[in-house]
Amino acid sequence: MQELENIFRVNSEKAKKEEIEIYINFAKNKYNGVMVDLVPHPVAHNTGWIEVVSGCMFSGKTEELIRRLRRAIFAKLNVKIFKPKIDIRYSKTEIVSHSEQALPSIVIEKSEEIIALVKDADIIGIDEAQFFDENIVNVVLQLAQMGKRVIVAGLDMDFRGVPFGSMPTLLAIAEYVTKPKAICVVCGSPATMTQRITDSKEQVDVGAIDKYEARCRKHHYIP
Ligand SMILES: [Zn+2]
Repeated sequence: MQELENIFRVNSEKAKKEEIEIYINFAKNKYNGVMVDLVPHPVAHNTGWIEVVSGCMFSGKTEELIRRLRRAIFAKLNVKIFKPKIDIRYSKTEIVSHSEQALPSIVIEKSEEIIALVKDADIIGIDEAQFFDENIVNVVLQLAQMGKRVIVAGLDMDFRGVPFGSMPTLLAIAEYVTKPKAICVVCGSPATMTQRITDSKEQVDVGAIDKYEARCRKHHYIP
């Protein structure tokens, strides 16, 4: 028991240092060229919270999710990562960014499955959250209520520029929101929109550079 308490204390001290470091870095620096509001509070980890990293395709959402989770793993925190079954783009058991960073993840069909799998996790990462069923909002709230740090990444809008799935609600309930930008392939401006370059009309048509480009508002159109 004493041993467990010691481990917990060490982890929590490490986690505290990590959070303070993030706080200082974000306070000092610009991130992706934009000042962001990312200030996870540097206090004891008995309060959960929700972070959302959201933007268009190729904006670096998954890289940012992986970066945060890696830091937590270095701090010896217990991390669990989930993604919906629909995203089989690169790997069945990992979350993988377009730049091919990867972390092992658990693929699930229904968002409620997460609750039973995270009993001993300190930090929960959820990738491609726009593809989960709408119960993902309750699941995320419940996890934060359980005292966990929940980091959610997902597309904020679909190819038409319409808010995607539960992302608008997740963005609203999050304590910390980061919206990284891509670069418009037409003009080089910061890009916030996902341009579909095929003529598919389905909201979900999983693909990467074969089907999508990042565009600014001016150069985005609905095909
Ligand atoms: Zn543009």
